[in-house]
Amino acid sequence: MYCLTHIACGGMTAGRLSNPVTAFFGGVISHLILDAIPHHDYKKTVWGVIDLILALGILLLARWRPELFPPTFIWGGLGGALPDLEVVFRHLSGKDIPPIFPSHSRLTPHTPLAWPAGFWIQVAVVVVVAGVWYLF
Ligand SMILES: [Zn+2]
Repeated sequence: MYCLTHIACGGMTAGRLSNPVTAFFGGVISHLILDAIPHHDYKKTVWGVIDLILALGILLLARWRPELFPPTFIWGGLGGALPDLEVVFRHLSGKDIPPIFPSHSRLTPHTPLAWPAGFWIQVAVVVVVAGVWYLF
């Protein structure tokens, strides 16, 4: 899934925990769950840069207006996005480095879904997760 999806969902779910450390590791677990949902992953670097800028934007917004977000949103979000660092290193190095994270090494499900359905499912997941946060 996109970095923005992982940060938003990790932050909105695990970020509800009061302890930053548990929020961070909860975010990592949310990455596993999200990767199991069929989704689109971009292949071009330019989309990665745009995704990263948007993800950093939501983290800055959470820092600037924390009252709009769960208490440890930033830590849950960072934990949610962290596993994809190995994907970034692999892509930038151009080397075939074997992935470690279970959903990247195919130990747990990681199902591709073509554009545009794979994009819209991520929008729906973020909307549902954010909606649940605001309702409860
Ligand atoms: Zn991933």
